[in-house]
Amino acid sequence: MESLSLQSFHINGLNYRSKLNFASNPSEFRAINQLGFDYFWKQRCKRLSFPVKSQSFSGKNEGGVSSSKDVSYFAIEEQQGDEGHLGHLIGPVKDASGAIVSFNLYSQSANTDSSDSNVNAVLDLDKQDEVQGDYDIKEDVWKVREATDSEGEEKISSGLPSSFVFEQGVRKEILAEDLLEETVVEGEEKTSVKVKLSIVFVTAEAAPYSKTGGLGDVCGSLPIALAERGHRVMVIAPRYIHGTAADKIYAGAFDADCRIKVNCFGGEQEVAFFHQYRDGVDWVFVDHPSYHRPGNPYGDSFGAFGDNQFRFTLLCHAACEAPLVLPLGGYTYGEKCLFLVNDWHAAKYRPYGVYKDARSILVIHNLSHQGVEPAVTYDNLGIPPQWYGALEWVFPEWARAHELDKGEAVNILKGAIVTADRILTVSQGYSWEITTVEGGYGLHELLTSRKFVLNGIINGINTSEWDPSNDAHIAAPYSIDDLSGKAQCKAALQKELGLPLKPDCPLIGFIGRLDYQKGIDIIQAAIPELMGDDVQFVMLGTGDSKYESWMRATEVTYKDKFRGWVGFSVPISHRITAGCDILLMPSRFEPCGLNQLYAMRYGTIPVVHSTGGLRDTVETYNPFAVGTDDSGTGTGSLYFLGSSSSISQYIKNEKIKFALGLIQALRNALKTYREYKGSWLGLMKRGMQQDFTWDSAAAHYEQVFEWALTDPPYC
Ligand code: ADP
Repeated sequence: MESLSLQSFHINGLNYRSKLNFASNPSEFRAINQLGFDYFWKQRCKRLSFPVKSQSFSGKNEGGVSSSKDVSYFAIEEQQGDEGHLGHLIGPVKDASGAIVSFNLYSQSANTDSSDSNVNAVLDLDKQDEVQGDYDIKEDVWKVREATDSEGEEKISSGLPSSFVFEQGVRKEILAEDLLEETVVEGEEKTSVKVKLSIVFVTAEAAPYSKTGGLGDVCGSLPIALAERGHRVMVIAPRYIHGTAADKIYAGAFDADCRIKVNCFGGEQEVAFFHQYRDGVDWVFVDHPSYHRPGNPYGDSFGAFGDNQFRFTLLCHAACEAPLVLPLGGYTYGEKCLFLVNDWHAAKYRPYGVYKDARSILVIHNLSHQGVEPAVTYDNLGIPPQWYGALEWVFPEWARAHELDKGEAVNILKGAIVTADRILTVSQGYSWEITTVEGGYGLHELLTSRKFVLNGIINGINTSEWDPSNDAHIAAPYSIDDLSGKAQCKAALQKELGLPLKPDCPLIGFIGRLDYQKGIDIIQAAIPELMGDDVQFVMLGTGDSKYESWMRATEVTYKDKFRGWVGFSVPISHRITAGCDILLMPSRFEPCGLNQLYAMRYGTIPVVHSTGGLRDTVETYNPFAVGTDDSGTGTGSLYFLGSSSSISQYIKNEKIKFALGLIQALRNALKTYREYKGSWLGLMKRGMQQDFTWDSAAAHYEQVFEWALTDPPYC
């Protein structure tokens, strides 16, 4: 047994050690033995099959399995010193065209029963005991002789029997068998297997129950999309009770009559679970008095809550218990599930001896929030001392309070990064940005070291909630075929805001958190210049009080042109998205961004800073390119730092540079709006045709689940 020690990192005076030193209790942990997808891929070119012997670092027999429509993966660890063991064969999996798409590990069994493999058969999992099979190297297929069926005919199924393996001729159930329920779909040519997973989302917010931003949207929609694709899905979030009418959102969630005790923060906390089954998903709410207070999930008008570490520690422990103790729909999820943990509020922790075959996928929605607290708080977390190394964080000297301050801290998101089986961000662009000094918030080297398990999947949108042809919040419905309703929405919005009713005056909108990330100071810098033009501008948001005050003051200064709506209102966000001509998103960084997706669906043109998910989803308008019609190509306007003009190179101030870029991009958009109506219409229509459904995003998530299950558990 070895202790697991990752690297030490030294960056720009920042010295943080990413060390998982489990030497003090080594028997509890396994070192990394990941057969990643890349590994299989490289081997692909070498030969079609070869024996491999995997190694157990723990002496425990652990592993995982996954199978999908066309492939089945095995990652099986063998007992050390198992003499005479033949090891496993790695063999190719081919798609319908015969191309090799991946590789599987197959046990070298003694029982060979080669028969014609081209017979379709449904695997009868109840008859596993009677099934025998072997891998045929020549044919590159796994052949299974099944029990005689009712008509007395012998059936041969080709492809892998995904829920059991043969080792030394003995059938063994695979470790992740319970994790995967299989539905066998009979096709005309071959049998395809759809894998059902038990997926557990752990999140601080899930719309419509709780939402402050994109995280709530994602955790409110992606689970439903995955459930629709056949998986068993649970979402665990706190039950926030504010003492207002909004609490009725939890009316459909009932006390599951299950209490657990959580040991943390020097005491024992009792938490309860509430449960609602809706849209095919088990929505589970963790109930504790610390979730009952006014404000949003993280804070109120006085700032962030001081006990957030406690509140989200409770959530994590409760999330570890829920799959084991809640008999939802009659039976528990069990320990062989796949956790989707979101941001620092839900980092991975594998209690002793439990969840050894589960996988944990960390989804980073925003790296700038990491859950960093003083090192002394570690003891409060209720996790064993050996885990300290995973969470250990040392601030750079310049960030320390005084000379005696050693900068020692715990960083919960860092703990999640070093322990997760796979890491995801909410766009591909952002998955690269977080590995750079500029976007990594001190974690870029650590993330770079894990880039082989790091991917990005762009968020989808809830297309029934955000549908201009059927939206209860807007003044008139409209669609790509009949845009007349959009003009009515614009007029209704101008009226509601008390702005002059001017159908031809471009109406620009902004929706979002009022903070530095969203570039509010950049809008602030650009406003005097913009207000000189014949435009109207509306902003909706809450956040930093200095920006809220600025919005109120600006409204007074530009009475006929500017409106600042301080607050969080979903109906108003829909009306702004529908009624505006342009949606502005000058975010400094944007992990995904949802408003630009909503805007495009509503025929509103996004003008955005070229970063992260904005760059991935908005295509720059090119009036000269030949598209499907003569209105050019692209769906919006992108700008980047210094893209304004040649003078920007002489400007040192970053904010002013951004503001110049924004003004230039807006001017281009306004010119098109005013002078090239046909091109503008083309832009609107191309945006409305974009496919950002959750179903396509969910399919990408499934691919990552499959990769996670291909590898053994990371630690
Ligand atoms: P982030 O998650 O960084 O806040 P996103 O663009 O990913 O940003 O998601 C923001 C989500 O929150 C969108 O659904 C947006 O419409 C919504 N939102 C943000 N601010 C407000 C607000 N003041 N009122 C209503 N909805 C808002």
